[in-house]
Amino acid sequence: MDFVTLGEDEFTYGTITQVVPGVQRVIAKNPSKFTYQGTGTYIIGDRDVAVIDPGPQIDSHRDALAVALEGRKVRSILVTHCHADHSPLAAWLAAETGAPTHAFGPHAAAVAAWDIGSLPDDFGRAPEPAPGSNEAEAAAKEPKVEESTDMDFVPDVVVRTGDVVFERPGIEMRALHTPGHTSNHSCFSLASAGAGRVLFTGDHVMGWSTTVVSPPDGDMGAYMDSLRLVAGRADDLAF
Ligand SMILES: [Zn+2]
Repeated sequence: MDFVTLGEDEFTYGTITQVVPGVQRVIAKNPSKFTYQGTGTYIIGDRDVAVIDPGPQIDSHRDALAVALEGRKVRSILVTHCHADHSPLAAWLAAETGAPTHAFGPHAAAVAAWDIGSLPDDFGRAPEPAPGSNEAEAAAKEPKVEESTDMDFVPDVVVRTGDVVFERPGIEMRALHTPGHTSNHSCFSLASAGAGRVLFTGDHVMGWSTTVVSPPDGDMGAYMDSLRLVAGRADDLAF
């Protein structure tokens, strides 16, 4: 399978790009070590559409999505997981369109019943440097090492592997639970005449780097199992 990364001069923030027939992408202007050039929001379909990962709470991205979706009917909002670059605009889009949000569940730490134990607050963090020291100045310039989480997201529709999440004539999308990056991470598959078999992999498989598996609910064993699950599929293409 070809591995293609997106160069800086190969896209423009906020524009709608047709990536394969029936699939469009809008890239948010939130470049970082976790998002590469920025988070991709995908729009599936023509007039009646599904939107995957509405994205971060950034005005320019929200406005770009509003333009991209003008005159179209959003039927389904699909959320791969609850990191702050993927799910926050789902609440806005659901309110604007009345479309239901679909996901495996809220972020695990937001669900008391999923007791995953507790870690000390400083788990995985280097000791704090003394204020005013060279180390403290250097640390202030370092990017944050964790992805922030959207704890407010609760899906309207809870989905499990195999559940149909969007259906139009000639288009079928299903959920695929892929825990590891987070415990509630799902990929979404698309089968359509125009696009073939496409898997939207969220942060489980990225086009430019391996993903991060971090506390509290990232799980390396689950991640490896989820990689095998995706590798064993017969998709033509992954985004
Ligand atoms: Zn993530």
